[in-house]
Amino acid sequence: MKIYNTLTRKKEEFVPLEPGKVRMYVCGPTVYNLIHIGNARPMIFFDTVRRYFEYRNYKVNYVSNFTDVDDKIIKKAQEEGVDASVISERYIAECRKDMEGMNVMPATTTPLATQEIDGMIEMISTLIEKGFAYEVDGTVYYRVRKFADYGKLSGKNLDDLRSGNRTLLVTGEEQKEDPMDFVLWKPKKEGEPYWESPWGKGRPGWHIECSVMSKKYLGEQIDIHGGGEDLIFPHHENEIAQSEAASGKEFSHYWMHNAFLNIDNKKMSKSLGNFFTVRDISEKYDLQVLRFFMLSAHYRSPLNFSAELMEAAKNGLDRIVTAVRRVEELDAKAAPGELAPETKEAVDALVRKFEDAMDDDFNTADGIAALFELVKLANTAVTEESSAGSTAYFREKMQTLCQVLGIVTTVFEEMLDEEIEALIEERQAARKAKNFARADEIRNELAEKGILLKDTREGVKWSRA
Ligand code: AMP
Ligand code: ZN
Repeated sequence: MKIYNTLTRKKEEFVPLEPGKVRMYVCGPTVYNLIHIGNARPMIFFDTVRRYFEYRNYKVNYVSNFTDVDDKIIKKAQEEGVDASVISERYIAECRKDMEGMNVMPATTTPLATQEIDGMIEMISTLIEKGFAYEVDGTVYYRVRKFADYGKLSGKNLDDLRSGNRTLLVTGEEQKEDPMDFVLWKPKKEGEPYWESPWGKGRPGWHIECSVMSKKYLGEQIDIHGGGEDLIFPHHENEIAQSEAASGKEFSHYWMHNAFLNIDNKKMSKSLGNFFTVRDISEKYDLQVLRFFMLSAHYRSPLNFSAELMEAAKNGLDRIVTAVRRVEELDAKAAPGELAPETKEAVDALVRKFEDAMDDDFNTADGIAALFELVKLANTAVTEESSAGSTAYFREKMQTLCQVLGIVTTVFEEMLDEEIEALIEERQAARKAKNFARADEIRNELAEKGILLKDTREGVKWSRA
């Protein structure tokens, strides 16, 4: 498998730190509003990366956070006259609903920044001890010039950055040793959430969150770190500076970045106001269509959102789903019989084509093209006369490729309450026995069927999405 690594600017063979395992961290959204479809691009793409690794029999530990403390959250909370946590909890819940609609599997762990403050204080203290950070009047800064590799990810040069940034030194920042030094901890302001720390009451900077959550749930070294390309600088550059200075080891081996989702060839963003929320789209389309639209382009190519492309995605998706259902129906009533070797060969060749595309830096566009070829073949080769051996082979391969792409082809029968409760009970038992893998499996299985679980003090509560 080859992955384009932003760090080396080359496609490289994927070699995991530990055989058979992938440790992957993807920066999640800041939760102060409904997510827009630009935010959905990394969610859908990295979920597909995870699914493909799993298809390739890797055990994937996938961590993706929610940034639930931030200026924008605080501003919104002040506008509404509520606590910042009210805003973040509301939009985390909404985001989870959107993710489910897009068939994005819940990450193995989804940490919240506000729950990880101790780890942040610890890492900041280590950085101060090692001379990579300094405190002035309750603010802790990272000392960028002390980290020799600063700029290695973004290819930026500190001197150029410095001259470009001299004018950016705003009031209150004269205390920095260098204009490029960035904040690790900032003192509390009136009306803002805060935590106690060795530097007084305050809150963490954004960059330290990801370094700490990644370390806690995946260890000091990870295989893949991902996010949108706007995060390369400064966010990911700063994460590298923090994590590598603290541990003395390489942080992430591969850095993957998706290109932007644009509208009229401009980045879709909340600040420009040129966005559609995932919720807007869900009023017109099944969110599967949005997922399919995103995967129709290579993740490193900009993708321009348009009504025409969404219609094309809808038609393409319909064609696939209709073909799979037709094969499923024919398979259910097919007469017993062997799979002919030439049929197997033809199907296998297309599955290999799909795998070759995905092995080549997750080329979902070419992968989908191979799936369309398989659909075309099935539409002619699978008939009322086909043997069960043949219909079953087509069905299984088509379903599997759809699953890798996260396309739902089955119409789920509504699950009965008793079935759900039995699974929840099994999950509780698995957790008690520390079989977290099975517990997560059950949660995912239920999530795929639109059943949401909530752990409360009174036990597990469930609801239909
Ligand atoms: P934010 O909430 O702005 O921190 O963004 C969450 C994730 O969405 C990050 O990985 C961003 O890089 C990504 N993102 C934001 N806007 C876009 C866009 N227009 N196209 C693709 N990715 C985006
Ligand atoms: Zn991050």
